[in-house]
Amino acid sequence: MDFIPVNEPLLNGNEKKYLCECIDSGWISSEGPFVKEFEQKMSATVGRQYGIAVSNGTAALEVAAQALGIGVGDEVIMPAFTIISCAMAVTKLGAVPVLVDSDLHTWNMNVEEIEGKITDKTKAIMIVHLYGLPVEVDPIMDLARKHNLKVIEDAAEMHGQTYHGRPCGSFGDISTFSFYPNKHVTTGEGGMVVTDDEELAERCRLIRNLCFRKDVRYVHDEISDNYRFTNLQAAVGLAQLERLDEFIKRKRAMGSYYTEKLRGIDGLLLPIEKTDYADNIYWVYGLVLDRHIQADNKAVQKMLAEEGIGTRTFFWCMHEQPVYKKEGLFAGETYPNAEYLARKGFYIPSGLALTQEQMERVVDKVKAMMERIN
Ligand SMILES: *Cc1c(COP(=O)(O)O)cnc(C)c1O
Repeated sequence: MDFIPVNEPLLNGNEKKYLCECIDSGWISSEGPFVKEFEQKMSATVGRQYGIAVSNGTAALEVAAQALGIGVGDEVIMPAFTIISCAMAVTKLGAVPVLVDSDLHTWNMNVEEIEGKITDKTKAIMIVHLYGLPVEVDPIMDLARKHNLKVIEDAAEMHGQTYHGRPCGSFGDISTFSFYPNKHVTTGEGGMVVTDDEELAERCRLIRNLCFRKDVRYVHDEISDNYRFTNLQAAVGLAQLERLDEFIKRKRAMGSYYTEKLRGIDGLLLPIEKTDYADNIYWVYGLVLDRHIQADNKAVQKMLAEEGIGTRTFFWCMHEQPVYKKEGLFAGETYPNAEYLARKGFYIPSGLALTQEQMERVVDKVKAMMERIN
């Protein structure tokens, strides 16, 4: 039997046609016409005025943080449980991530802990929506207003998701997306910064392109990087965007199917289906082993791999990253819920190309595996 990959994207729309247009016209670099079109269309899906496409979602966070003027000594509040891109965007600028533990219900950061983390050095709050449910945004925006803080929204996993009916990617000063192949819209590698602030958008464009001075080329006042996005990537992105609604429906149907079939299995916690502000969009379908289960995520992932089922572990906590431990950052800090999710959480095949037959096999193998370890 074939191995079922954890993430197989669906590329059977106009991707090939638009890519051929790039090749035929010779427009393959970041100067090509699809880039602007994709920026406009993608930013429009979340009601933002400006979109700045960049090389990946990590780059989007870096560009956003630099554009907001985050710098040496500043503190940025963010979840302990997230991808390292969030923390690196801040530490690369000499600023310090201040971590917040997870809420075990939604797997997002516990919003109630944020206010206690605010100091005179706090410059921004980074909202990171994880695995399919948005963070509770309104209380964070209230805090940001009250304490005069910037808000960066990492919406990498939230294409098409809403919070109280308002699009994820529309909150705060600046929001970011990723178009990695496990995201609902993919360009292979790719990302975007979106904002309504014209000046901030202009800063992002400069930072994306080595901070070339506008008046003279090859002269620079500031350090940045080459974060450019190509016409080839935009070609794929435009074809993907045409199907966003269909993709979201499919993701939700996949999530509902898994929930229906896996509900009630002893020792297995499933993603919650909804909160009072959003229905789960199931970026990927995560599973968390109950505390009484001895095995950790890696052990059960190995068992599933032997049965031909691809899985991926959850994120590893920021305060447990060797690179930050070496620097003495987060010394002595613990975030029990985040640590639990990182050790017991993993996700099962969730790509848009997954077939019904494959999903049935995944369910059977997960059930059999749980019977063995219970
Ligand atoms: C995928 C992801 C990123 C990083 O995106 P890349 O395109 O892989 O660099 C950032 N934040 C979150 C929450 C993500 O899921």
